[in-house]
Amino acid sequence: MSFLQLRGVEKFFGEHRAIKGVNLTIEKGEFVVFVGPSGCGKSTLLRMIAGLTEIDGGELVLDNREITRLPSSKRDLAMVFQSYALYPHMSVYDNMSFALRLAKVDRQTIDEKVQRAARILNLAQYLQRTPRELSGGQRQRVAIGRAIVRAPKVFLFDEPLSNLDAALRGQTRIEIHKLHRDLGATTIYVTHDQVEAMTLADRVVVLRDGQIEQVGTPLELYDRPANRFVAQFIGTPQMNILDTRDLPALDAAVGAPDTHDGFVGLRPETVLMREPGQGRLSGRVELVESLGANTLIYVQVDHPGRAPVQLVADQPTRTGLHPGDLVGIDIAPGAAHLFDREGRALAA
Ligand code: ATP
Repeated sequence: MSFLQLRGVEKFFGEHRAIKGVNLTIEKGEFVVFVGPSGCGKSTLLRMIAGLTEIDGGELVLDNREITRLPSSKRDLAMVFQSYALYPHMSVYDNMSFALRLAKVDRQTIDEKVQRAARILNLAQYLQRTPRELSGGQRQRVAIGRAIVRAPKVFLFDEPLSNLDAALRGQTRIEIHKLHRDLGATTIYVTHDQVEAMTLADRVVVLRDGQIEQVGTPLELYDRPANRFVAQFIGTPQMNILDTRDLPALDAAVGAPDTHDGFVGLRPETVLMREPGQGRLSGRVELVESLGANTLIYVQVDHPGRAPVQLVADQPTRTGLHPGDLVGIDIAPGAAHLFDREGRALAA
């Protein structure tokens, strides 16, 4: 049984059609991540589910009940924002218990729920502090705690980690991951962070210009992107995309049939560096980026008399290569993703 359903959901801002007939089904307990470039409509879609932005067309169904026009407060959803939105003058305890007090829940039940959430989120020792006396990561955990105590049908997160520094982002991401493992709550999470999308999601929804491009598990999107857009949006560094018109005589070497007209996509980890003179291709190193565990190598492929072909390779080693070095290049067998001229993936 589907738990949350979006059926042909539309949003207009004036003349601008920001959400264009989105259909999506989310199962109970699923962790779904919305990703896409800035302005694609991720937040708008989330806010429509939350009831914070009016839905102009289509329907929203939660747990067998149509809620398209139901006010936010009656939807039984809890939203966690990037900006925390805590009450600055209230203690952590009062922030977390606020909604329950408003709902006239008895004091003992409130206390049990707050204490439990505080334990889960490692906030037990901070309950009497005010938000000002907490770090950014702790504040975000209070905001999450406030959502947990309400035990809503669905948790909605709008870029909850984007105000945190890299280390805290990582830690808090892991906490959200464990929280979902322990509570199993249905969750929709908006981010533009690849790592968050790949690590947290049961399914990722890739949006572009108010429409869904593809829905799938993180590895489905990585291994079988439906089109060139998804292929380049998922994965860092981006998939290499080559136009077959620039590749005469190179098709076979990059793993594409020579009848293919369109684009060839190669993940950087499938571009393999060889000794000069070895490999099916040769080229010259333009730039090397050492990331510690792995190295990114930008190479210009030899292709005399033709438009230059550039590739980025991601090697799980320290290569000792420098700009200007000559290298051989191979493409891992079966690595090529084929796209037609319109960018649609061809079946492998
Ligand atoms: P970002 O990653 O930058 O937050 P997003 O994918 O969340 O982007 P939205 O904020 O949902 O994108 O915006 C989708 C589109 O709708 C954008 O073109 C935006 O300019 C427009 N938009 C959003 N909110 C409003 C509003 N209140 N009034 C007018 N236009 C809006």
